[in-house]
Amino acid sequence: MTHVLHRSIAHHYPTAVSGRGVFIRDETGKDYIDASGGAAVSCLGHSHPDVIAAMRAQLDHLEYAHTSFFTTQAAEELADDLAAHAPAGLDHVFYVSGGSEAIEAALKLARQYFVERGEPQRRHLIARRQSYHGITAGALAVGGREWQRRAFAPLLIETNHVSPVYEYRERAGNETPQAYGERLAQELEAKLEELGGENVIAFVAEPVVGATLGAVPAVPGYFKAVRRICDQHGILLILDEVMCGMGRTGTLHACEQEGISPDLMAIAKGLGGGFAPIGALLLQRKIFQTLAQGSGAFQHSHTYTGHPLACAAALAVQRVIRRDDLLANVRRQGAHLERRLRERFGNHPFVGDVRGRGLFQGLELVADRTTKESFDPARKLNARVKHEAMARGLMVYPMGGTVDGKRGDHVLLAPPFIIDDAEIDMIVERLGDAIDAAVAT
Ligand code: PLP
Repeated sequence: MTHVLHRSIAHHYPTAVSGRGVFIRDETGKDYIDASGGAAVSCLGHSHPDVIAAMRAQLDHLEYAHTSFFTTQAAEELADDLAAHAPAGLDHVFYVSGGSEAIEAALKLARQYFVERGEPQRRHLIARRQSYHGITAGALAVGGREWQRRAFAPLLIETNHVSPVYEYRERAGNETPQAYGERLAQELEAKLEELGGENVIAFVAEPVVGATLGAVPAVPGYFKAVRRICDQHGILLILDEVMCGMGRTGTLHACEQEGISPDLMAIAKGLGGGFAPIGALLLQRKIFQTLAQGSGAFQHSHTYTGHPLACAAALAVQRVIRRDDLLANVRRQGAHLERRLRERFGNHPFVGDVRGRGLFQGLELVADRTTKESFDPARKLNARVKHEAMARGLMVYPMGGTVDGKRGDHVLLAPPFIIDDAEIDMIVERLGDAIDAAVAT
């Protein structure tokens, strides 16, 4: 009997009792290799001593101070650190406690920016199908996961969705990646024409689509075209780097690899690495200045904004990543992981695609590699893979609805940045066994 309303009411969850490096141990003493960092969170693995020491030191001084009374050294130092390493022009930080809150803040700040600029007619948001931006009302509304939106549709603000970049299924056979990217850019242009560009607030996108598509990057040139279109219409580009950011793809920010800088950028997960709930919204100087010279305040706040313990944890996480040159390890082990996945699954009858960047890799499962037909959703293959993986002491992040919100299955991998060769090999071996067992049942 449990009094917790768990994610799945019927499911029995093992009790996690300790963690060390890339492993979590349950109450029976069984170890699980954390190949997904939970949900792409635990970038330093578990129980990193330097982060814990920094959190202890913060607690010895001050556990909490409400931001309507005080700032704290932890919040200031983390903001300095984030601004110093941010994409061009993003030099202010608004703190929240997770990814959904970061997206909510982005949507509201974008709207307030235009109200203060004297453009209150701007009210439309454009995002993409097959995306996830969080679970709170605003974030759910911009997200493109139909099955999660359906029950709440009457409560959601109106949003508009265009196609994601989904090369494996949606690039035509005779189309180059560049031509595909241009086609998608034209679709965005067409949507702006339909709504009237002067009525649009922002375009929201994940640079590498995480949980909904399974680590799908854009094609070359796509984000440059998106940036150009946003600028032409004076609309803001909001990048959701909650999952793909903070080093996961081998650069601190995923958008660095696209050669663009957004107007607003949501980060979370790897920011605090799971040591504390924290997210942040990074904003362009022009947005900050508009508010500074206008109303003087962002009309949005939370009780736990800038929590000092969370800021101290995140600062320690980011310092360890730099000190230990862990982004180099993300690139090195990311290449190793991709190579090993291709060796194991390149000819697998039920794996249609291996994709991703850095330590952010996805496998799409198909019933037929030639036709790309997906498995019958009634089989719940993604849940079976998770079950078989857990039975083998492996944590991965499978999901269904890859193709259209209903059909399709994929497995997402996002191991900690501290992972080594042998641990990658262990992950691929266990995953191979888990997938084989899941499709056989
Ligand atoms: N945005 C993206 C891209 C995500 O992957 C997630 C969570 O998985 C969120 C937003 C929401 O973050 P949170 O679950 O911390 O609210």
